[in-house]
Amino acid sequence: MTIVDIINKKRLGNILNKSELEYAFMGYYKEEIPDYQMSSLLMAICLKGMTDEEILDLTDIFIQSGEVLDLSKVNGITVDKHSTGGVGDKTTLILAGIVASCGVKVPKMSGRGLGHTGGTIDKLESIPGFQVNQTEEEFIEKLNTVGACIISQTKNLAPLDKKIYALRDVTGTVESIPLIAVSIMSKKIASGADNILIDIKVGNGALLKNKKEAEEISRIMKIIGQKYHRKVETMITDMSIPLGKAIGNSLEILEVIKILKNEEENYLVDLCKQLSSKMLQMALEISEEEANKMVMDSLTSGRAYQKFLEIVASQGGNLEKLEISSYTQDVISTESGIIETINAYQFGMLSVHLGAGRERKEEQIDPSVGIILHKTVGDKVEVGDILCTLYLKNDTPLDIDIQKYFTFKNEGVEIL
Ligand code: URA
Repeated sequence: MTIVDIINKKRLGNILNKSELEYAFMGYYKEEIPDYQMSSLLMAICLKGMTDEEILDLTDIFIQSGEVLDLSKVNGITVDKHSTGGVGDKTTLILAGIVASCGVKVPKMSGRGLGHTGGTIDKLESIPGFQVNQTEEEFIEKLNTVGACIISQTKNLAPLDKKIYALRDVTGTVESIPLIAVSIMSKKIASGADNILIDIKVGNGALLKNKKEAEEISRIMKIIGQKYHRKVETMITDMSIPLGKAIGNSLEILEVIKILKNEEENYLVDLCKQLSSKMLQMALEISEEEANKMVMDSLTSGRAYQKFLEIVASQGGNLEKLEISSYTQDVISTESGIIETINAYQFGMLSVHLGAGRERKEEQIDPSVGIILHKTVGDKVEVGDILCTLYLKNDTPLDIDIQKYFTFKNEGVEIL
């Protein structure tokens, strides 16, 4: 067997058996297979897909590349949540505060930005001092004392995903149902939670573009959960406009703080309430009504915000040192009307272009750059209004027509 035979087999749409998958993926992990051959195999998988059996085998290979965390030393019920990726998606940071403040443990292994979508780890690393790398002992200790700990992919847990993820990010191999399912579920199984909620995002700003793809990934994720005896639930949610007002790492942290202080009301806030309610229902086996009440109490009492501060402090972060670029550029509307759409994908790509995400594997992101949207779908806009503000790396303004990422109409539209 050679790697070229395996690539060709998949290119022709054939099924790879577990030993072929193992040869290719573990070979890449051990650096016996170079980036260009793995990129080619990933592209063949993107184009030809995988059977359920191939997906289960590959998930197992990813899990076996490291250890499966034993959370039996955590006192209490654990619930994890993962998003399939979106633009401005900072839900994890909000949910961790809410759910942990309700007494349920949140062990969370997150990823970095992928393609046009942002990553929780990049957002957390924009907080100076925040340590996304924790030992297993530290992870468990923080779960027991604080109630939540958010870590990056480690050497021990699904390390193969970390390597493949970084390669997919820069080789146009992100948008693949099998690869997304394997990537997310291997991390979730390896990080040990009893209950796993997957937020499947759909729309132009998501990795999954329609409901059919979302339902397909939901089906396969539940099958993976069954195999490893974990309770997996999914929610299919909208990602056709950016989530919330901020896109870009430090800016998103500021938005998280406002939401946890209960100072915002919008679609993102509603979504966070729904997701945290679902996490509590799964973990505590309580009704939706009871869970919704717990979420509201946590937010209105300030407990969710205090818990977030505790999580940040326990992982060494200093929110006072958050850096926001002072080079700003307003995008002024030359049209009037009501905003009908805001293209999340284009805003995601813009944030990568500004430096908030990566175009190459080795690139460092700039935590201080990004975008603040001042208007959302359904808002009335007059000529001269500021649509959004860009936070730039330096004082050279961008020469891009950003207004075209918005569409306008003259009558009322449904507000999300
Ligand atoms: N999130 C992940 O962790 N992996 C993917 O492939 C997509 C989103």
